[in-house]
Amino acid sequence: MRNDGNGGAVADERPIFKESRDHILCRNFGDSTLGCGMEMEGFPLTDRRITIPEYAMALAHVASLRSEDPFRKVGAVAIDHENRVIGTAYNGLAPGYQADAGFWTDRERRQKFMLHAEINLCSLFTRTQVKLVACTTKPCTSCMQALCAHGVREVYFRDDYPASEADEIAERYGLKLVRLTRYPRFSLAEPGDGDSG
Ligand SMILES: [Zn+2]
Repeated sequence: MRNDGNGGAVADERPIFKESRDHILCRNFGDSTLGCGMEMEGFPLTDRRITIPEYAMALAHVASLRSEDPFRKVGAVAIDHENRVIGTAYNGLAPGYQADAGFWTDRERRQKFMLHAEINLCSLFTRTQVKLVACTTKPCTSCMQALCAHGVREVYFRDDYPASEADEIAERYGLKLVRLTRYPRFSLAEPGDGDSG
């Protein structure tokens, strides 16, 4: 047993998957062990240990699935200087607010009310506590400013957001801003898919 750096114990340090059986084993892991009907896409498990940014992006991806915004689902994750997960967040309405049925039909109207994933994330940590943030979409200009203000030094994103001025902000303040699209990715499979047993 060892500590995984995130407060949890991990039983196996050695890889338990063989490359030739990746997809079968991933599938079985999702269907049989977790029973949640999830499968891994495009990221065969090998004996390579995933990097901290890949780990963070995978978690950000899962967080994005909780967003109720039908137009843009964004997830974000904060990692501290000892590679511990400080928190996860996603874009949404103010905590506790219940939108009426018609709220989500108007993309423009809903926009100003959406609290961005990165802002929700920043509410979970104090300045300089976090080293790295992963977001499924490149932070908008305001969110990049907020991340800077919180002392974040590295920002990873999956999807580009051309309207954002994050690149310019990162360059001026010396932050690392990197696109990362390859990470262990899960999707929700339709009921009945796969080899349930
Ligand atoms: Zn934003």
